[in-house]
Amino acid sequence: MKKLLQFIFAIIVLYVIVIFTLPQIIDTAINRVAQKAPYTVSKETQDLYNSLDFIADLHCDALLWKRNLNKENGRGQVDIPRLIEARVALQAFTIVSKVPWGINFKSNSTDSDLLKLQSFVSGRKPKTWWSPKNRALAQCDELKAFAKKSDGRFRVIYNADDFKKYLSDRKSNTAITAGFLGAEGLYPLMGDINNLDVLYDAGIRMMSAVHFQDNELGSSAHGESLGGLTDFGKEVVKVIEQKNIILDVAHCSPNLIDDVTAIYHKPFISSHTGVKGTCPSQRNLSDKHLKAIANSGGLIGIAIFEEAVCGLSAEATAQAMKYTADLVGVEHIALGTDNDGAVKTPYDIRGLNLLVEALLKVGFSHEDIRLIMGENVKRFLLEKW
Ligand SMILES: [Zn+2]
Repeated sequence: MKKLLQFIFAIIVLYVIVIFTLPQIIDTAINRVAQKAPYTVSKETQDLYNSLDFIADLHCDALLWKRNLNKENGRGQVDIPRLIEARVALQAFTIVSKVPWGINFKSNSTDSDLLKLQSFVSGRKPKTWWSPKNRALAQCDELKAFAKKSDGRFRVIYNADDFKKYLSDRKSNTAITAGFLGAEGLYPLMGDINNLDVLYDAGIRMMSAVHFQDNELGSSAHGESLGGLTDFGKEVVKVIEQKNIILDVAHCSPNLIDDVTAIYHKPFISSHTGVKGTCPSQRNLSDKHLKAIANSGGLIGIAIFEEAVCGLSAEATAQAMKYTADLVGVEHIALGTDNDGAVKTPYDIRGLNLLVEALLKVGFSHEDIRLIMGENVKRFLLEKW
C-alpha cells in the first residue's frame, strides 16, 4: 500500500514538473522570431507608423500555448503588452482545437490528434483532453479571463456596440488594445450543428471550416480528400451566414472555396494566407480565389511567415500584398500574421514598422498603407456588425 502511494505521489510530482516546463520549452522552440526587437526603421517610416490610428491583425494562435498573455513572457510572437507597444488596435485570437501528428502542408490523416497530448502536458482540465469542443471553450474562457485581469488594457469585442465604444475610447487612450475570437477549423462542432450556437454564445465571431485535417464539414488544403463542402458543411455555412459570423476560408481546399463562392452570399475572408502569384504552395490562394474573395467584398489577410510568402522578411509579405492589390484592389488587403501559429516569423508583433517600410519600398502610398494595416478591417467590421 505504501509503495503504491509513493508511486502515485511520484507520478503527480512528475506531472507537475512536466506541465511547468515542457509547454514552455515547446512554445519557445516552435514560435521563433528570426530578428529580435528592437526594430529600427527610418524616421519617415516611424512617423508614418506612429500616425496609423487603427492597426489590425486577422490571425494569431497565442491562446494555444497556455501562456499568461497579460505578461511579456520573453517567448512567442505576441501578447497583450507587445500589442500595446506595437500600437495594434485589434487582434483576432483564433482557436486551434485539433492538430495532426506529423503536421505537414501536403497530406494529413483525419483522425490523428496531437492536442490530446498537448492538452494533457499543458495542464489543461481533463475535459479538454479528448474534446475539441471543450478545448475551444477553454480557450474562449482564457481570453475573457485575460481581459478581466488586464486592468482595462485589453477587452474582447463581440458586436457593433462593443466595437464602436472601443473605437471611441481609443481616441483618447492608445495604451489599450482589443481582440475578438475566431475558430481555426470547426472541429469543436464534433459533427453536431447545435454546437455552433455553443461556440457563438462563447464569443466566437469568425469561423473557418477546416485547419490541417478534413472534417465533417469538408476538405482541408492539407487533407486526404481535397474535396469540397459536405452536405453538413453546406448547412453549417448557411447558419454562419444567418448568424452574421465572419466566414474564413484559410486552409480550405480549392474545391471547398469554390463551394463557398457558390453558396455564400455575404463577404468572406481568408484570415492568413500567401498567394500563389508570389509563392506557389498548396496552402496559398490562386488568382481565381483572390478574385472570388474580393468580388464578395471580403478581405485577404496576408501572413508574415516563411512558408506563406516564400521568404523570412518583411519584403516577402510586402510583395505578396502588392501582387494581390494589383490584382484585386488595395481595399481588399489586410494583415493576418499567424503569430504563434507554430511558425518562425521574421519579427514579432512589434516589428510591424518593418512591414510598413517594406510596403513603402514596393510603392504603396501612405493612404494605401493605412488601409492595409487596419482601416480595411475596421470598415469591414463596421459594415459586418
Ligand atoms: Zn493557420
